[in-house]
Amino acid sequence: MTALDVQTIRADFPILSHKVYDKPLIYFDNAATTQKPKEVVEKIESGYYNVNANIHRGVHFLSLAATEAHEAAREAVRRFLNARSTNEIIFTRGTTESINLIASSFADECLSPGDEVIVSVMEHHSNIVPWQIQAARKGISLKVIPMNEKGELRLDAYKALFSERTRLVAVAHVSNVLGTINPVKEIIEIAHAHDVPVLVDGAQSVPHMAVDMQDLDAEFYVFSGHKIYGPTGIGVLYGKEDWLDRLPPYQGGGEMIASVSFEKTVFNELPYKFEAGTPDFIGSTALAEALRYVSAIGMDRIAAYETDLLHYATERLATIEGIRIFGQAVHKGAVLSFLVGKIHHYDMGMLLDRLGIAVRTGHHCAQPLMHALGIEGTVRASFSFYNTKEEIDQFVAGVDRVRKMF
Ligand code: PLP
Repeated sequence: MTALDVQTIRADFPILSHKVYDKPLIYFDNAATTQKPKEVVEKIESGYYNVNANIHRGVHFLSLAATEAHEAAREAVRRFLNARSTNEIIFTRGTTESINLIASSFADECLSPGDEVIVSVMEHHSNIVPWQIQAARKGISLKVIPMNEKGELRLDAYKALFSERTRLVAVAHVSNVLGTINPVKEIIEIAHAHDVPVLVDGAQSVPHMAVDMQDLDAEFYVFSGHKIYGPTGIGVLYGKEDWLDRLPPYQGGGEMIASVSFEKTVFNELPYKFEAGTPDFIGSTALAEALRYVSAIGMDRIAAYETDLLHYATERLATIEGIRIFGQAVHKGAVLSFLVGKIHHYDMGMLLDRLGIAVRTGHHCAQPLMHALGIEGTVRASFSFYNTKEEIDQFVAGVDRVRKMF
């Protein structure tokens, strides 16, 4: 595997050469959203300038061109995920909407009072609250997979959670706080041994490692475009075709119907059944461009480079007096959550910001995990392939400088 030419890559991201407070920007908030390469922004611009017309319903030139671009984007996503068919690729607004779609449609079709859904202690709120909403509607309950002191899910406890009322497992591939890469393949195999389908939240995995739907065998897999260098407002729900066929629509409206009368409406076929209203066809084509961009670098090279950054940052940060790093999993993505002494995470974040360093502070939309850790929040640095060891050196020096101020 050849090394990444990071300086050339960085030139594709104009924002990375910005200064904040007269200091070079160090952007370590990639788990929240990633920066966009020029190719993606240009795709959005050229979409609006050259191929803007509503899709699927038009017979005119522009509408056909826009439809073709949108469906080509669906094929690009299918290829990226190695899904079997474009019928398995539903465009949504992002991870959150994808999970809400499944929670709502799955609950309508498959859940009755007394049924159980298994989630994990390290889920983002977007993989907890939609299930709680269904719990209130349908009288189901949530079972929670606990973790060990390293921040790894306890598979023994997971196995013990299954009962004859278990209907679904919904679990993150990678924790947005701990960085833990969960053994989703094993988690899926265990669920399948109980005839239970699995939804995987891929928000923090798809941007950082190769994923293969046919190999993984999850029933549902979701991610957000904006975390993989694409635009905001577009995301993906992958679902096995037989499952998507079986589930009822999430929203009603245009696009998702075959015919409508006041007496009877016939829903459209997949994937359109789940795409009510005008889809974000500019967003989908820009997302496809982002996928093309990361594929050209190579997902395996991205994973190797970011893992190297993580190890370097972990080693360097560990030298700081009073540091506590949350998440010491053996398999870990490029996310570093920490606290230093008694310094409040918010103070650390504010002061790092003054040095031009963007990190995230708080509970990271994972309050149950914070509760399990016995803390209110952390400082989180999350890396991308455009970050460098020099930036990490400056970040570590910054953290130490803040420590000395307290
Ligand atoms: N799941 C995980 C693990 C996340 O990290 C995030 C965002 O940080 C989400 C879900 C929600 O993603 P979005 O806000 O793009 O829908």
